[in-house]
Amino acid sequence: DADVRDTPAGARVEFRGLRRAFGSTVALDGLDLTIEPGELVALLGPSGCGKTTALRVVAGFEQPDSGEVLVDGQDITRIPANRRDAGMVFQSYSLFPNLSARDNVAFGLRVRKVAAAERRERAAELLDLVGLPDHGDRYPHQMSGGQQQRVALARALALRPRVLLLDEPLSALDAKVRANLRDEIRRLQLSLGITTVFVTHDQEEALSMADRVAVLNAGRLEQCAAPAELYERPATPFVAEFVGTMNRLPGRLADSGLVEVVGARLPVDGPVPATRDVEVLVRPENVTVTVPAETDAGTDRTATVVSASFLGSVTRLHLVLPDGTSVKADLPSRDAGALVPGARATVGLTERPVLVVARPA
Ligand code: ATP
Repeated sequence: DADVRDTPAGARVEFRGLRRAFGSTVALDGLDLTIEPGELVALLGPSGCGKTTALRVVAGFEQPDSGEVLVDGQDITRIPANRRDAGMVFQSYSLFPNLSARDNVAFGLRVRKVAAAERRERAAELLDLVGLPDHGDRYPHQMSGGQQQRVALARALALRPRVLLLDEPLSALDAKVRANLRDEIRRLQLSLGITTVFVTHDQEEALSMADRVAVLNAGRLEQCAAPAELYERPATPFVAEFVGTMNRLPGRLADSGLVEVVGARLPVDGPVPATRDVEVLVRPENVTVTVPAETDAGTDRTATVVSASFLGSVTRLHLVLPDGTSVKADLPSRDAGALVPGARATVGLTERPVLVVARPA
């Protein structure tokens, strides 16, 4: 399938100051983001943060009120959708129900007046590429959801676009199919070198597939970084709390620049608020939990286990401290046996820098 792999290398995509409002709803509020050639960037964020609008602006289905989209430095903001060099896959399968898989894939080629023999050949290659070599004659209703999305992907790639836009393409699929297709999209994307923008509200999907994850909040970029960096060094409290799970523990800034929290004194990562009374953001895996001796009278770090959820290799504990602070802790499941609801446990923190934010009034 040398022909398919002839796809020109991916383009650089730049969002510059994109703004788009719908009445009084501001969907994009000055979005700036550059996606490098061949990168897969996931747009992640809460419902309504503007992910889909951003993607639709690149596709040309939506006009920004201001700002522009550049592809390899060229402003494409005013270029009609059908003349843009982008393929798109939607959440709902959106195949033409009355066309076979082959004709769905070849649809764009037909519109562009590619000769029948070449269309057929190219559709076959693409179906091969997405793992459906024998499904050319099937109609959408004769295929599973996962198969339909593969066909939709093949259709999006048929015109050899330099940008691939994926709008929650896996959301309608069940977990197993989703995981398979996730791996396959990534494999395909890497082998084609196509610049890909992937909208998802699923953190796991974003973190596992993307070169970088762009976290959006209220139409603006909070942070765009590699998955591990985003998780380990969130730039803002919003990112810290949106990505993964965080505890918010009451703490106090000491003169030493350290923060006192749950009996520990820890170094602080990033800026500190002007007040002494703060909240300290700590991941559940950085909370330690030990079983106190029977005779132990207990301290302000002696918590009660509220619930224990077995998640496979780890168990997520919910605990509550004497002052009412609730704490989540992830423990290797093999160490969590005695920590049943109602049990007493001593909570501590690992020696790791933490993020500190102002305590809400
Ligand atoms: P979700 O994850 O729920 O799909 P999203 O991050 O993709 O959300 P958008 O679909 O981009 O968010 O929408 C951003 C905001 O703009 C939302 O408040 C949405 O209701 C609004 N919006 C989007 N499109 C339109 C439209 N055509 N008309 C009116 N409001 C719109």
